[in-house]
Amino acid sequence: MAERTLLAVVAHPGDESCHCGGVLARYAAAGARVVLVCATRGQAGAITDPALATPATLGEVRTAELEAAAATLGIAAIHWLDYQDGTLAEAVPFPEGVRRVAEILATERPATVVTFGPEGVYGHYDHVMVHRWAKQAFADAHAAGLLDGARLYYCAPPRGWYRAISARCRAHGLPDRYGPWLDWMGVPDVLAEIRLDVAAHAAARLQAIRAHRTQLPTTHPFLTLPERDVLELLDSEWYTRYWPPRSETEPPETTLLPGAD
Ligand SMILES: [Zn+2]
Repeated sequence: MAERTLLAVVAHPGDESCHCGGVLARYAAAGARVVLVCATRGQAGAITDPALATPATLGEVRTAELEAAAATLGIAAIHWLDYQDGTLAEAVPFPEGVRRVAEILATERPATVVTFGPEGVYGHYDHVMVHRWAKQAFADAHAAGLLDGARLYYCAPPRGWYRAISARCRAHGLPDRYGPWLDWMGVPDVLAEIRLDVAAHAAARLQAIRAHRTQLPTTHPFLTLPERDVLELLDSEWYTRYWPPRSETEPPETTLLPGAD
């Protein structure tokens, strides 16, 4: 079978590892071409340790962090849109964002596209805009006959997953990062239709998450919990399929790239 491409569209460095790193690693390991579209260089993000970056250098440092994560996950190419972090909803005209993603879809011709769902995991406006651009760009490319048979999936981490992280933190007497946000994080469990087994890639995903050092406070559960707990938490990812539409009788799939593994 010819090489197939899985393309993920995200907003910030780190999104790829935190929200779909297991799937990216799984299909890269299976021999697919895995590519990433990242809308910003994360210039407006946190700086957990002033020794790592300054506001002036953060975009450059986060570029390097994503490049390291990409190497770990097996991402073959990163398409940077180079927008300013935090401004996608207000500073980028919607048709322009759509066109930028559509141009990359026309070049890469992915069999599967992964992006945020409409809630952007926790409502971040950059995530929500990236979702809207990718959804429209996919529809436009599909209508133009460029993506025959292609599939569009949304990341759908269930609230139960964040509750599980919170519960493990409390059980170990560690800071409960997600506790105050459990009504906001992820999607209602019933919407997390597809569970992907990424256990074989949990360690790579964790290493990729940890590559984003400027974004990971020392109290983050993925640094403080015992490694075994973290790897168990990272052994699955959840998605919903937007295209093609799912029939009521169709069972949830177990792969996002049929025939790849
Ligand atoms: Zn993000």
